[in-house]
Formats: sequence, structure tokens, C-alpha cells
Amino acid sequence: MRVPFLDLRAPYVELRAEIDAAYARVMESGWHVLGPEVEAFEAEFAAYCGAAHCVTVGNGCDALELTLRALGIGPGDEVLVPSHTFIATWFAVTAVGARPVPVEPDEKTFTIDPGRAEAAVTPRTRAILPVHLYGQPADLSSLRGVAERYGLAVVEDAAQAAGARHRGDRIGAGSTAVAFSFYPAKNLGAAGDSGAVVTDDAALADRLRLVRGYGARAKYRHEVIGTNSRTDEVQAAILRVKLRHLDDWNARRAAVAQRYLDELGGAGDLLLPAVASWAEHAWHLFVVRTDRRAELRDRLAADGVETIIHYPTAVHRSPAYADLGWPAGAFPLAERLAAEVLSLPIGPHLSGEQAGAVISAVRRAR
Ligand SMILES: *Cc1c(COP(=O)(O)O)cnc(C)c1O
Repeated sequence: MRVPFLDLRAPYVELRAEIDAAYARVMESGWHVLGPEVEAFEAEFAAYCGAAHCVTVGNGCDALELTLRALGIGPGDEVLVPSHTFIATWFAVTAVGARPVPVEPDEKTFTIDPGRAEAAVTPRTRAILPVHLYGQPADLSSLRGVAERYGLAVVEDAAQAAGARHRGDRIGAGSTAVAFSFYPAKNLGAAGDSGAVVTDDAALADRLRLVRGYGARAKYRHEVIGTNSRTDEVQAAILRVKLRHLDDWNARRAAVAQRYLDELGGAGDLLLPAVASWAEHAWHLFVVRTDRRAELRDRLAADGVETIIHYPTAVHRSPAYADLGWPAGAFPLAERLAAEVLSLPIGPHLSGEQAGAVISAVRRAR
């Protein structure tokens, strides 16, 4: 049996009637940007997250970057970022001219270690940027405690964690701002690029609305230097449909994850992902660790099981950041994870048979 890592047609097939109707509604309306669908999605997603405001933007990268910009973070400022993350997290910081200060993860949960974050605070630190990596909420209670002690903003990168919960609260509430990506492969995915910022801070939401739309509230009255970063009406209409299915789809992800955890335990030297006591995991990815990754990956591929590495290069070792001058060994945990992590197929549309095929293939390979 062939098990692709991801099947982006399956969500459409399941929701074809609803998605086709949403698309037709927008096309018949003749209204394509910043209209009723965007307004409705923003209200619905804010309510879903338990937050006061949602401002949609063009993508997850912009959600992070525009938030930092709206908070006035820039040259001379430092932002604490995970050493182990997708590079977009760091790009947001460097895009506003601030300095990313890498903090090593808690090795069990893959998320930023609050103790190490506190140790990295300097007088220039302005914000902590935790990432809910692979869909697992970071230790937000501890991180918010650190932020409070030093007067820092907490800007969460929740690109992989739509629908996750931290101590019972939906990710999206309780910090300065929370950035989401609705890239098609994410748990809540559009049919193209989209993203959003969720916040309880009305002034911050207002600044974001201003910045995303050419710095103007009324046509051609540009109050601040803005940009163009918007979610269009078609994407918003599709996101409204998919939001209604997010909890169900995340539950289906969790069922696959539970099966993997139950049936892969004791498969050789494989380290299975740990779920933190405070976390309701969104299972964007199911990431295992092994020091014999290449061999495992090849054997799975031979059995038709496609895997991906998230991510193969620690961010500080990426050529993009060569100028920052971090040598090999600067962040050993991030480097080790980059060498050992492997993502198995998971998703709401992975069949029971396919999950079984993944389990058999892994067991055969160990
Ligand atoms: C996907 C992702 C982003 C960026 O989102 P885009 O919509 O692709 O710009 C940022 N951070 C993390 C952790 C992501 O996984």
C-alpha cells in the first residue's frame, strides 16, 4: 500500500458541496477583498479562539512580522525565538530589523524551554516568540511568567496549532498576540495562502488592520506606512467552511496519533513524541526521533510510506543566517534534533488501513 505524506485533495472531496457553494457565493457577489466573508471569518475565528479580535493577513509569515512591527519592535531589540523551529519564525524577527536570540528546546516536548528563555533575557529583550511546534502548545504558563517579570510581549507562533489547547484554553487567547497560518497543509488550511493574528488588545488589532491595508482606514488617506497583506474573500469563505470541521478533523488526527503511540511503543530505539501535561496537542505532525534516521526513512520509502523531515537544518546553521556567525555546535540540541527527527504521515484523511501500513512498516524496519 502507498501512503503519501499528505493528500490535499481529500479535504476538498469530503467538503465538496460546502466548498463549491462558498466559492460560488463569492464569485456571484463580485466582491473579492476585505468584504463580508473576511469580516465573518474574523468574527468566527476570534470567537473560536476565545479572543476579542482576529485580523486576517496574507499568510503566517506576515501575521508574525506585522505583529512585531505593530508592537514597535525593530533595530536594537532582541526577540527570544526557539532554536528548533521552522525558519519563518526567525524571518519575522529579522524582517523588522530586530535580533533573533535562539533558545534551546525542552527535549521531550520540542518546544522552547522557559528556564533557558529566562536565562537569555537581556535589557534589550522585547518579546518571547514561542512556537507550538508540531501542534503541541509550548509551556505558556511559565513563559507568560517570564514575560511578566521582565515586561516582555508574548507573541505566539501558532501556525501549526489551530485548535490546540493549553490547560483547557484554546490557543489564541491569553498572550499579547497569536499568529496563525492557513497555508493549505496546516490543520486549518485555505486553498492558497492566508494567515491571521488573534489578540485581546483592541489597539493592536486596530494597528494591524491599518498596516495590512496600505496604512489607510479610508481610501487614499494613508495614516501610517502600510503594506498589502490580505486574505481574499474566496479564501475566507473556504476557511469559514473548514473552521466548522476543525475540531472533528483534529480529533481524527489525535486518534491516529494515539494509535501510533500505542502500537509503536518499544519499536527499537525509536523515540515517540511526548505530550506535555498542559497540552491538548493538535497533531499537525507526528515526529519521531532516531539516530538511524536515513536507514528508517529508506526502509519506509521501500514499503511505500512517505516521510518528511521537519526540519533538516537547524535555523542558525542555515545559509540564510550565515551573517549572524553562529558556528556548528552553538545550539547542540537544535542540531541534534535536525539530525534525528522524522515525521510520519498523519492527518484527518489518513485511513485506518494506511495508519496500519505505517505501523507495520516501522515495526519491520526496527
Ligand atoms: C507555516 C509556518 C509559518 C509560516 O506560515 P506561512 O503561511 O507559510 O507564511 C510560520 N511558522 C511556523 C512554525 C510554520 O509552520
